[in-house]
Amino acid sequence: MALRPSRVLRTGAVLGLAAVLLGLTGVSVVGTTRTRASANTAIAATTLAEAYELADDAVALEEVAEQRYRLEPGEQALALHRGASGALEVALRDVEARGTAADRDVAAEVRELQVIYLGAMDRLFAAVDRGDTASAADIDDEVVDPAAERIGGLVHGAATVSAQEAAEAMRDLHRIEGVVFTATTATFGVGLALLVVFAFVAGGYQRRLLRHAAEHEYHASHDGLTGLPNRTLFTEHTTDALREAGPDGRGLAVLLLDLDRFKEVNDTLGHQYGDELLRQVAARTTGALRAGDVIARLSGDEFAVLLPGASAADAAGLAARLQSELHRSFALDDVAVDVEVSIGIAVAPEHATDTDALLRCADIAMYTAKDSKTGATLYRPNMHTEDGNRLLLLGDLRRALDVTDQLTLHYQPKIRLDDGRLSGAEALVRWSHPTRGPIPPAEFIPVAETTGLITRLTLYVLRLAVAQARAWLDDGLVVPIAVNLSPRCLLDPDLVGHVTRLLHEHELPADLLRLEVTETAVMANPALATETLTALHRLGVRLSIDDYGTGYSSMAYLKSLPVDELKVDRTFVMHMDDDPEDAVLVRGAIELGHNLGMTVVAEGVEGAAHVTALQELGCDIAQGYHYARPMPPEDLTTWFRTSGATAVLSG
Ligand code: C2E
Ligand code: CA
Ligand code: CA
Repeated sequence: MALRPSRVLRTGAVLGLAAVLLGLTGVSVVGTTRTRASANTAIAATTLAEAYELADDAVALEEVAEQRYRLEPGEQALALHRGASGALEVALRDVEARGTAADRDVAAEVRELQVIYLGAMDRLFAAVDRGDTASAADIDDEVVDPAAERIGGLVHGAATVSAQEAAEAMRDLHRIEGVVFTATTATFGVGLALLVVFAFVAGGYQRRLLRHAAEHEYHASHDGLTGLPNRTLFTEHTTDALREAGPDGRGLAVLLLDLDRFKEVNDTLGHQYGDELLRQVAARTTGALRAGDVIARLSGDEFAVLLPGASAADAAGLAARLQSELHRSFALDDVAVDVEVSIGIAVAPEHATDTDALLRCADIAMYTAKDSKTGATLYRPNMHTEDGNRLLLLGDLRRALDVTDQLTLHYQPKIRLDDGRLSGAEALVRWSHPTRGPIPPAEFIPVAETTGLITRLTLYVLRLAVAQARAWLDDGLVVPIAVNLSPRCLLDPDLVGHVTRLLHEHELPADLLRLEVTETAVMANPALATETLTALHRLGVRLSIDDYGTGYSSMAYLKSLPVDELKVDRTFVMHMDDDPEDAVLVRGAIELGHNLGMTVVAEGVEGAAHVTALQELGCDIAQGYHYARPMPPEDLTTWFRTSGATAVLSG
């Protein structure tokens, strides 16, 4: 993941900060201890130096007192001398207390000399008192002066040394203080730098997280192809706008746009063209909007526009502008493509006051527009009836065709009545609606048949069925598959081309595909139907007449069609044992089929009694719940392997 480098940096910064904190603590502890020790040394050195100095002063004062006594003897000079010797003694004690062993040696030596000196001084004072100046001078020269000189020298020398030591200790103290200060400042600086790095990295990490979150949110709420908001974001915007509009606000309008021929562009020119077309539609639509309007791509070729504060008239005006914008040809590379657009309009609060209901109204209006080819239609409450449901179903079916998981095929086996073997399987479409659950084909096929949607549905079913037949073939199972063709498909000029392509694409032998059509479908346009059926037959595809007996048919046509199978409708087969009329019809159908050289299939075979009756009538093939219900292909594979019906497969 891209976050890794910054995680490393982050860890580094945290560790660094911890190291700096530890360093700071260390420096401060060591610094304090060293500083205190050094300060103690300095203080001791200084006081010792002071003591020596006092001693030095006292010695000098003794000299002064002696001189004074000799000039004017008296109590005063004597007292001065006694005071000086006392002070010397005090200073010596101080030196002994504060100094080292060497200092104590010095003090002891001074004290010894002092004893000699004081003895000589007593004698000198006595000689002065007697007026014997000659003796006094002798004593002075011989004893007092040398002793005083030595004492002075000793004390002064020690005082000088001690003063030097004190100065040295002070210098030491200053140096250590300097080192501690530098170390503290440096560590603090490193910490500060790390803090900046940390803040930077953390900031970057946070920015990246925010950017990731923003990107994620963008992807979750926007369409990757056009960059427009998607359905989720559009719903949010609409809900917000409805809330802002309030109960008596100005209201808003929602337009739902659906391209009418997009699928064709996608199928014939390819997805790249389809994508480009969608981008250009998005751009043109966006260009026609005001600031504050919201456009979104809801799905495939469906766009929505939200017009806050707009009335129905405003919306209709925009719809007209959009139509003229979108009806200009689109230049896709070298191809000019024309599309039509159907627009449904719904406004709040008139049509609905919540987002879902409003979008449903716009949806119904859009399908009405599509159905009636009117271009743009404003929702009317009476659309929300039977017709509305039909249109909603159509819309949902269109969306189901765009995804892969809603429409699937079930297969029902067809069994040969003479030997019980498999003759093939009929593919029957199943729709699992995301909110309504399973919807039976009888409910949505007829609705799809009222619009062109049935063609898309048929192609969808054909593709799945052909792929399945191929898969079974690859599995060693030869299963001819029948697909139902709606009347409209029979009139579709592209049908033969589509079938050809599909068979080719899946390399499926054409005789493994069977198409079922009803009499009614053929009779709707006999000439065109015959043309299509003949072309299919030429491909090698097998053909059946489905639901025989329910429509009116003309023998003449049945005869001329290249059809090789007749399927008798289940309503007759189901009642052939208790309704004589149905029994007659089944018997007649079997005879007719055989006369025309066709195989006859009985549908809706639900019980063993039917099987016996049909066998007696010479019916060829049976299909019904008695054998198996329509089931997913995987289940049918298992059924093949366990029922014994596939022992021999006939094509
Ligand atoms: P159908 O073509 O006549 O298909 C046979 C229908 O009879 C199926 O109903 C099947 O489930 C049902 N059926 C089979 N055996 C029995 C039985 O023993 N008793 C009874 N009561 N019913 C049985 P399903 O699948 O509901 O399909 C209904 C109709 O919808 C089909 O009638 C067909 O007309 C149409 N349909 C189904 N799938 C497609 C499709 O892919 N394309 C088109 N165009 N139409 C389809
Ligand atoms: Ca059928
Ligand atoms: Ca049928």
